[in-house]
Amino acid sequence: QPVLAVVGRPNVGKSTLVNRILGRREAVVQDVPGVTRDRIAYDAFWGGRRFTLVDTGGWEPGASGLQASITAQAEMAMSTADAVLLVVDASVGATTTDEAVARVLRRSKTPVLLAANKVDDERLLADTASLWSLGLGEPYPVSALHGRNSGDLLDAIIKALPDAPRDGDRAVAGPRRVALVGKPNVGKSSLLNKLTGEQRSVVDSVAGTTVDPVDSLVELDGQTWRFVDTAGLRKRVNSANGAEYYASLRTKTAIDAAEVAIVLLDSSEPLSEQDLRVLTMVVEAGRACVLAFNKWDLVDEDRRHQMVRELERGLVRVPWADKVNISALTGRSVRKLAPALRTALASWDQRVPTGLLNAWLSDLIAATPPPVRGGKQPKVLFATQAGIRPPTLVLFTTGFLEAGYRRFIERKFRERFGFEGSPVRINVRVRE
Ligand code: GDP
Repeated sequence: QPVLAVVGRPNVGKSTLVNRILGRREAVVQDVPGVTRDRIAYDAFWGGRRFTLVDTGGWEPGASGLQASITAQAEMAMSTADAVLLVVDASVGATTTDEAVARVLRRSKTPVLLAANKVDDERLLADTASLWSLGLGEPYPVSALHGRNSGDLLDAIIKALPDAPRDGDRAVAGPRRVALVGKPNVGKSSLLNKLTGEQRSVVDSVAGTTVDPVDSLVELDGQTWRFVDTAGLRKRVNSANGAEYYASLRTKTAIDAAEVAIVLLDSSEPLSEQDLRVLTMVVEAGRACVLAFNKWDLVDEDRRHQMVRELERGLVRVPWADKVNISALTGRSVRKLAPALRTALASWDQRVPTGLLNAWLSDLIAATPPPVRGGKQPKVLFATQAGIRPPTLVLFTTGFLEAGYRRFIERKFRERFGFEGSPVRINVRVRE
């Protein structure tokens, strides 16, 4: 269900308004332990619609000050909620802190509503007009204490909330999209032929599916997959000038169109620059990934020992990727690709609830704090998984986190939550 986040500085009557919105139904559905203080999510209901109300209040002003913690609160709200409600005190008017928060919220793609609280009677209505200056549209005058006008505000909230939560609209219906990539001669078309081979007729008769002519529908392990941009794969590129350029362009197009990539590697040869370039493209595009070591039929005992060392160094960037040893020639272990693709996509789609994430993170950071930089100890205030596909974490901090420490967090995050087969992005937002 959609999420509404309530932000505002202390004493504007936020908690009273939250209680008012919830009516008597103050059922706590989720206790969200933050790093600095608890944030609480409630189940709210109005006009036949259900939504989650997150009270982001109570960011205790740390060393960085009240304004910084409230703007951080607003950024957190923007990145996690489907709509944001900013509460200001109409009897005081817009303070500099309110203005700072409004500045942040004006950048938001998420709808923002403005509640002018403490309008306890008609005479105070005039005070709300000045709040237009915050640039957040019409201020809704309410009295949280007396319940005045809160119905109008709730109607507006319901109107602003989307029907479905975010990310839903990014899910494309139909078979999941796979890119088959790798350097020339690694066995891409051989593998595609093997996969489609006998099943050609079955594949072409999938009812009601319109197949983009450049893609192939492939049935693997009882599931239909769309292998994207396979027309280019079947065409033999001669080694004339520019062949490599076109090959890399094709790789890029296929990766962009796909959700998960099978990166084919040639087990009979050392890992090459070209292999790593393809891998980097997949990771940078934020796609899930399965490593398929092809031509495994050519690998003997010596080569296998050699590979262990080679891969340890070569694949440092993708220790999380699943490895499958296959032979497109003999068909060996080709059926292991489907489970690996499923695992990778499940990770790509996975979301860790904010409460769980922060509970884990505060323990981790208490045990191993970020390294001091320039005499200052950066604090991590709060974390949220802002997105999926690929999973993206946002850490709100009071200082820069070194790359080594970010990698440490990613490693521990994976140990705790999995995410095998998917890249994970960690963004750091530093509040001054
Ligand atoms: P592409 O350029 O990636 O599409 O590679 P191809 O599918 O055209 O394969 C290049 C060469 O490798 C061909 O001669 C294939 O027969 C050979 N090949 C592909 N897969 C295997 C495999 O699993 N084992 C062996 N021994 N040869 C393979």
